[in-house]
Amino acid sequence: MNSKVIALDLGGTRIKIGIVDGGTLVAESVIEARSGSGLVQRLPAIEAEISSLLSRAGVNVEALGGIGISMPGIVDSAEMRLLSVNEKYSDAVGFDFPGWARKKWNLPIVIENDARSALIGEWQYGAGKGYDNVVMVTLGTGIGGAAVVEGKVLRGKHFQAGILPGHFTVDFHGATCNCGNIGCVEAEASSWRLPDLAARHPLFESSPLSKSSRIDYGEVFSLAGKGDRLSKELVDRSIEVWSACVVNLIHAYDPEIVIIGGGIMRNESRILPAISSYVDKHAWTPWGKVKIVPAEQKDFAALLGVSYLLSQNPLTR
Ligand SMILES: [Zn+2]
Repeated sequence: MNSKVIALDLGGTRIKIGIVDGGTLVAESVIEARSGSGLVQRLPAIEAEISSLLSRAGVNVEALGGIGISMPGIVDSAEMRLLSVNEKYSDAVGFDFPGWARKKWNLPIVIENDARSALIGEWQYGAGKGYDNVVMVTLGTGIGGAAVVEGKVLRGKHFQAGILPGHFTVDFHGATCNCGNIGCVEAEASSWRLPDLAARHPLFESSPLSKSSRIDYGEVFSLAGKGDRLSKELVDRSIEVWSACVVNLIHAYDPEIVIIGGGIMRNESRILPAISSYVDKHAWTPWGKVKIVPAEQKDFAALLGVSYLLSQNPLTR
């Protein structure tokens, strides 16, 4: 197979497009996702951006080995189709990705869940390099994750193994999640839930947070650092939720290393030591200590992950 590939990361707000060669990102571009309006309306812009990126990088389509797509939702990575997604790109369920790539570029394709793609990127080219048992969790709009167990990416019968740490139950008297479960990690501490958690709190009216134009973790961590009681409570509670999630992941998958990524990790110095110390105290690991580390490929792990899958998939050769 030609070693250069096109990699796409279809995020909720941004679409990242890259040319990857043997685990190195050689050119990249980012366009707006407009994911709420679906995928099909965005394809012409994606196609145009790929053409423009190839020409800027001086790469011919004939020199490419395939296209790799990372996207949110439950992805059948054997049939290369999206099975289920939550709100974003809803029209992509059942979309004929292999047909699109063949018709447009005459290239083979791989498609994989975004958190699983990011984990594969970190496992092969980042913080998880050299380990056979790796778990990743991403803290952001939602809480994502994936696992490599005994050197194999965990997918499961219905392609959902390992990718639902955001829907582990951490409080069965807690909030109803948009997935239907109660007290999910995401429903208790994630960027989509945070504004609601803040607004419902009795301290909200007296907190400077109620005057903030945007309630996100950046703002809440910043106000907590300035001594705001509500923000501090939200930070402490969120870190406890994520720590419990990491303990659940360790008990489920027996990893040597847990990689933590996602946008909320911009406050890594506050989050990582707290999760490590919770895990040291509460995880049942008589063999020793699980390493808790930040993601290394902070922006492009998923692009590297799908490029690795293309290099491995016999169908694409
Ligand atoms: Zn849930």
